[in-house]
Amino acid sequence: MTNDTAQPITTNSIAEIVANDLCIGCGLCEALTGGRVTMVMTPAGSLRPSSTDAFTNREEAQLMAACPGAVAEARTEDGTTTDPVWGAHRWMSYAWADQPDTRFRAATGGALTALGAHALNTGRAEFVLHVGADPERPMRSRWVLSEDADSVRANTSSRYGPTAPLAGLAAALERRRPFAIIAKPCDLGAVHTLSKSDPRVDELCVIRLALVCGGQSRLSKSQAVLHELGIDESEVTLFRYRGHGNPGPTVIETAAGDRYAKTYLDMWEDESGWEVETRCKLCPDALGEASDVASADVWPGGAPTGEDEGFNGIIVRTAVGEDLVGSAVASSDLVLGDPITPRQFDNLQPHQVRKKEALAARYQGLSDAGISPIETHGLRIAELGRRMDPERFEQQRSGAQQRIEAARSRQLPD
Ligand SMILES: Cc1cc2nc3c(=O)[nH]c(=O)nc-3n(C[C@H](O)[C@H](O)[C@H](O)COP(=O)(O)OP(=O)(O)OC[C@H]3O[C@@H](n4cnc5c(N)ncnc54)[C@H](O)[C@@H]3O)c2cc1C
Ligand code: SF4
Ligand code: SF4
Repeated sequence: MTNDTAQPITTNSIAEIVANDLCIGCGLCEALTGGRVTMVMTPAGSLRPSSTDAFTNREEAQLMAACPGAVAEARTEDGTTTDPVWGAHRWMSYAWADQPDTRFRAATGGALTALGAHALNTGRAEFVLHVGADPERPMRSRWVLSEDADSVRANTSSRYGPTAPLAGLAAALERRRPFAIIAKPCDLGAVHTLSKSDPRVDELCVIRLALVCGGQSRLSKSQAVLHELGIDESEVTLFRYRGHGNPGPTVIETAAGDRYAKTYLDMWEDESGWEVETRCKLCPDALGEASDVASADVWPGGAPTGEDEGFNGIIVRTAVGEDLVGSAVASSDLVLGDPITPRQFDNLQPHQVRKKEALAARYQGLSDAGISPIETHGLRIAELGRRMDPERFEQQRSGAQQRIEAARSRQLPD
């Protein structure tokens, strides 16, 4: 596999990745240190390792080879077609959960929940590592090991804001039983790169399901919603970011019995108010290229115009994914709709196409700021960058340079 980007500068440590705000808070730092380093919420509303100078040399080396702030790699196998934007896949199609309740509660059409539950019900996996609302603080999220379909369904839908699913990876691997994971593309990228130094990963993490991802907001986005409503976080009993419809409203309930709702567009239409992590603006794989199956929204033009019954677009990437989907369809757990071509998917996710094309310029901006871009393999960053006209390339390059310099100065102590 070839390196997609020139690497003039080298990142040497997790401390540097965190200082440069390239950490996404995946939780691997916690998993690989046996919990000696934990994931903590920063004042800016991001999950970050509690310490960056407490790693042994071995831990640091293993982290640097897997951390999403350092490296990202597509996971490919024979029998696939590679599209420059969508990556290696077998086929893509509309899909949704057959069970109406799953489809209703899920983020979109419940494809991921249906596939996770099907993996358990058919014995392919014994549990699923994923995330859900923290019962103690429902605005925040925590990792969970779901051992039955009801638990997978209880932790359905999108959790916006910081999540650290890989903080649960050590517990999952220690069980020494086959498991599935449902997570963001960056999390699954880290699982894949970790497999090179830990053979248990490929042996035990037998099914990998990704949500296609436009970016993770910091907790400050959720806190701003509470502030606007005049609610203290301690009063919150439910914080549902979406679902119960597609996309469904963001719903907040309090101990006093009050209920507030915001439409999806009220929450997310203005992208400048997302307070998205720096790593997301530089994300070389938001489409789940290290997954077996990735699941996306399919709104023409990339944004909903109203509510619907819930339709996913799924990208079936591997033989494992194809087998799981085929079995779920045969068991009436999943329904397949029409096939989706790569160019049709471009129209359903235009923001993803624009971001992929802009990355080469943004990485150049990072290099110009003296920071090593994320090392990418098999993700076609240079090839997609050549599609940009010189004026747009320069805008993206200088924008990235300024953003990373500002982000880095925010990470420095006062
Ligand atoms: C931060 C974020 C940004 C997104 N941006 C886009 C986008 O740009 N384009 C797009 O098509 N779709 C995006 N989505 C995905 C979309 O919201 C749906 O999750 C996706 O369509 C899958 O729908 P589903 O009904 O199959 O998922 P469901 O059946 O509802 O299952 C969702 C699964 O994902 C897990 N999960 C939820 N949130 C997280 C998280 N933050 N980290 C790790 N695991 C999580 C849950 O535990 C659950 O198992 C985003 C989701 C998130 C969380
Ligand atoms: S992205 Fe993950 S592995 Fe990298 S520094 Fe952050 S928590 Fe650690
Ligand atoms: S945009 Fe990329 S880095 Fe950000 S949360 Fe999504 S997959 Fe992770």
